[in-house]
Amino acid sequence: MKDHPKKERTLVIIKPDAIQRSLVGEIIVRYERLGLKLVGLKMVVPTAEQVEGHYTLDPNWRRVTGEKTIKNYRDRGLTPPSEDPLEITAKILKNLKKYLTAGPVICMVWEGAHAVELVRKITGGTEPRGAPVGTIRGDFVVDSYVMSDADDRAVRNLIHASGSVSEADMEIPHWFKKAEIIDYKVTREDIMYNKELENILP
Ligand code: GDP
Ligand code: MG
Repeated sequence: MKDHPKKERTLVIIKPDAIQRSLVGEIIVRYERLGLKLVGLKMVVPTAEQVEGHYTLDPNWRRVTGEKTIKNYRDRGLTPPSEDPLEITAKILKNLKKYLTAGPVICMVWEGAHAVELVRKITGGTEPRGAPVGTIRGDFVVDSYVMSDADDRAVRNLIHASGSVSEADMEIPHWFKKAEIIDYKVTREDIMYNKELENILP
């Protein structure tokens, strides 16, 4: 039987810049107060291999991200540094490896209805500059592609969050062993998900 939609899971990584800026609590509270359930949590210093493996779990990631980045340059009226998507992605990946191996990160698995979509929504878009007020990136970080490209570094956007359910299904086992994810119940789930509201009145 297919899992109930309330069991959807997504991967969130609190990146090194967020830990350095003491934003761990601020970030966790956003997902927690929405009603998602934390089912996995650990602090690690990733290796470059782990980071490259993470971004290339989808064999199309290099091409798609390269093409998207070329389009982003054009939309800003700029000439992309290369017309070859793979050359662009090689540079992005080199900088992502430097960024994510710079210090500890916190890996988390959050579970609940529409977990993937809702975590992306409250996290805000990849480029903090354009992330709406009220999202984590919109509220806590000033970075942009203009800034990161000028200094040949990754954009510092505090968080990684899975982009789709299929991405989450690949990313979670990349960072967590099966036994590190805990299946458990919290009582508020009765109020959020049960078909009938019961046992409230004496
Ligand atoms: P995410 O899922 O929000 O992390 O975004 P993507 O999967 O599309 O991209 C992965 C990473 O590639 C981002 O976190 C950025 O570091 C980088 N990236 C994506 N698009 C661009 C872009 O247009 N310009 C630059 N410089 N980097 C980009
Ligand atoms: Mg992505």
